[in-house]
Amino acid sequence: MSFRRNRMTTAGWEQSLELIEEHQLPDPPAGWVRLRIECCGVCHRDLIDRSGRVPFVNFPVTPGHEACGYVDALGEGVDRWSLGDRVATLHRDACGSCSACETGEPSLCIGATQIFGITIDGGYSSHLLAPQSALFAVPESLDARLAATLACTYGTAWRALSRHGAPTAGDVVVVVGAHGGVGRCVVELAKRLGAEVVAVVRRDSDDGLRALGADHLIVNHDGRFHKQMPCAPAKVVVDCVGAATINASLRCLGVGGRLVLVGNIDERRSELQLGRMIVYGLQVVGSSGANHAELKTLLEWHAKEPFNPIFGSSYGLNEADQAMRDLRAGSCSGRLIIDPSLDQSN
Ligand SMILES: [Zn+2]
Ligand SMILES: [Zn+2]
Repeated sequence: MSFRRNRMTTAGWEQSLELIEEHQLPDPPAGWVRLRIECCGVCHRDLIDRSGRVPFVNFPVTPGHEACGYVDALGEGVDRWSLGDRVATLHRDACGSCSACETGEPSLCIGATQIFGITIDGGYSSHLLAPQSALFAVPESLDARLAATLACTYGTAWRALSRHGAPTAGDVVVVVGAHGGVGRCVVELAKRLGAEVVAVVRRDSDDGLRALGADHLIVNHDGRFHKQMPCAPAKVVVDCVGAATINASLRCLGVGGRLVLVGNIDERRSELQLGRMIVYGLQVVGSSGANHAELKTLLEWHAKEPFNPIFGSSYGLNEADQAMRDLRAGSCSGRLIIDPSLDQSN
């Protein structure tokens, strides 16, 4: 069996990914495992990693942080996984000994440095070496595409909604950037909680949001979408956009409401209306990757009543560069997937 992986040698789009093939599989170091990859999601973060906006990308690197597969080799001292286990990647490892790790919050670990696709190789590959702490278990019955993307899509959405107290039936939840991958998941999960869901979008198109659970759609033409709130003020606003929308998002909140910021890193600075935040007693929190308990909750939920993810095209490893360019062009709907079994050289 050969080891095939895409290499990104430098930031930017002038140079294509290079698919290289070696005839020996790499051995996992102590505390790491090797996966045979079933598939890997193509995420907007991969585009940011490639754009040059992330200063600590360890070039050359294999992109991709949304992989699932089977453990096919164990490094020394691995105690969480056995050969044949089916697993998927979290964004990064966890030290296991800081106060965040000890309270079950590896997403807040201060000792983690191994980030797939940035500091260590990611999943646009036939095999992946992964720290054992950077994986979670997925059941055999789960669609590989959902297994691969679950943490970065539904996981991010669920943590954003629930970490500081999930909304309950009748609460108004506003999702800003609802057409995006995480935004769609927030709409779907908020509706399952019984919330009244307001989806704020950029283009005048439903794109299945009402079927997923949006009760109201607001098209944000001029940045003042809070003026179009069709119902009571929100208990929770999940903003997946950033600086362009944050103040309108704040104005959608009722007294005691919470604004949760998720999604891709926006380096622009924002000015906030502090008086409103104080008088209304608002919370503003950032939210990143899901922890194991949150993912377990999602897997149980999905087993009872399946989620409705939308997948776009699947690409072979030798088409990974095209997959990134197609996502960048913005013309695809649904999550794009890289599937090594489709590789024409296979
Ligand atoms: Zn992702
Ligand atoms: Zn830690």
